Amino acid sequence: MLDDQEGPDNRSVIETLNRLCSIVEEEPDLHAICNTFRSELSKYCPSEAIELLSYSNDPKELLRIASSTDEPGGSRIRFDDDSSSWIELGKPDALYIFTDVKEAPFFVRDMAEKAGSSSAAIFARRERAGKRTILAVLAKEGYDISSWEKSESLVELLRGSAILLEYCKLISDMNNYRMDFLSLFDLIPIAIIQLDEKGTVKSANNEAELILGSGDPDRGIEEENVFKEESFKKSGIAALVRRALRGEDAEAENIRFRGADGRNRYLFVKLRSIIGSDGKRQIIGILTDVSARIQLQQQLERSYQTLTEAFHELQRADKMKSQFIDVVSHELRTPLTVIRGYLDMISHTRGDSLDPKLAQKLDSISLNTDRLYEIVESMLDSARIEKGAVEVVKQETSLKAMLEEIVASLRGLANEKHQELLLVDVGETGLVQIDTKKMRDALKHIINNAIKYTQDGGKIQVTLTDEGNMIHIMVRDNGIGIPLSEISKIFERFYIVAADELSHQVDRMGLGLPIAKGIIESHGGKIWVESEIGKGTVFHINMPKG
Ligand code: ADP
Repeated sequence: MLDDQEGPDNRSVIETLNRLCSIVEEEPDLHAICNTFRSELSKYCPSEAIELLSYSNDPKELLRIASSTDEPGGSRIRFDDDSSSWIELGKPDALYIFTDVKEAPFFVRDMAEKAGSSSAAIFARRERAGKRTILAVLAKEGYDISSWEKSESLVELLRGSAILLEYCKLISDMNNYRMDFLSLFDLIPIAIIQLDEKGTVKSANNEAELILGSGDPDRGIEEENVFKEESFKKSGIAALVRRALRGEDAEAENIRFRGADGRNRYLFVKLRSIIGSDGKRQIIGILTDVSARIQLQQQLERSYQTLTEAFHELQRADKMKSQFIDVVSHELRTPLTVIRGYLDMISHTRGDSLDPKLAQKLDSISLNTDRLYEIVESMLDSARIEKGAVEVVKQETSLKAMLEEIVASLRGLANEKHQELLLVDVGETGLVQIDTKKMRDALKHIINNAIKYTQDGGKIQVTLTDEGNMIHIMVRDNGIGIPLSEISKIFERFYIVAADELSHQVDRMGLGLPIAKGIIESHGGKIWVESEIGKGTVFHINMPKG
């Protein structure tokens, strides 16, 4: 055959290509195929090397895909501008014979020199997606390949081999992509499974093995059948697979799955039926471990229940406290009224002859009884407000006159603390319909508080402004202020702000503000507060005119 310079006959070409095909089928290893091809070809043309190259025009690059030599695939082949134009402009699927490589483009010359060859046959495949595959046969020194040009069968053999090698490269690329994909697949923190139409697991990623696996590292879940395994049946996954196989919607939250490690996990499962590449129905599914979320949810539910119980208990205690205060206040009120009556009588009849010491004691008893009576009244007022039973008896009143009167009555108290108590910007608001006594009590209490919670030498300002439908009253002090966290609580019954500087303050009941609020609101008004600790407090009151 070696002497047959005309090349192989058609039958030999087919046989050679068949042999190459079966190698590709068995194991598509590019290096091995290059070598086999080289030995097959040596029957017609002994060669130093077979090189399979890939040329890309953007960016311009010439890479070795595979070689019969030990050169690694992926290495760069040196080429110049002439080489790239030669490759780009070359005819598709054409054979070029260089009996003297000195006349060949630079890249052929360079390869031939390295291989120790002086003639070469280059088969350039047609361009596909900006790439051309080049099969180079670097002939043995002294072998004449000039006759190859005339041999159609040889061209066919080279074309067939180039196509086969290209195909082989494609398979190897696909295998690489598959490996990349599988690695990625295993990194995903979501379990992914694939089942056949009989419910047998065909593939599963790492997360699926972890969640659903048997716990035996040597035995994965592949080939397990979801219709046979207890854990799949009990959890309801098997039923879901059945639904998916019927083409129904197969998605479920909170599936409780007991794994081989004995752990109960809550899973979100979503399955879908698809037709695989083999034309058969199969199921693909994702499973997410939602145990942490479910546990949190359960904890929250438990906490909510505990809180609700505690809240009801508090409500009950609060109700009992209110009932107790109601009863005590009512019970105290009657004897106190009697005592006050007697004290009144005594003070009117005692005359000047009474022992001064006894007179002083009597005055003290009277003062404290009045104070006690006021407290009892406050308690009863607050109880009424809480029940919504405040009776408002309106009459025409001048708020301006009322504020002037209150300020005058409290001036003595402010003077004792060397405070400046001023009515500023008090506009004329005309007469308004209010319960005079109750509103006076409410406003007096707020101004009294400003004096009480402002240090000696402080400043308290009261303003009254007509704002159309509303009258706005402001009581501003530069006192101790109220912490932000307490502001929403000071209108609650019996709530007092705990602060060191207030520890000496004795007359604190925590009833004034809730009563004032109740009175203002029963007039359709509103009260709110702004405060900054150490800087002072402003109480705002909005009262409707009607
Ligand atoms: P009390 O009888 O304690 O004054 P109040 O219901 O009038 O009861 O007020 C509740 C709490 O609000 C007070 O104990 C005090 O801590 C705080 N407070 C009220 N007014 C002022 C103010 N002008 N400046 C600072 N704190 C105040």
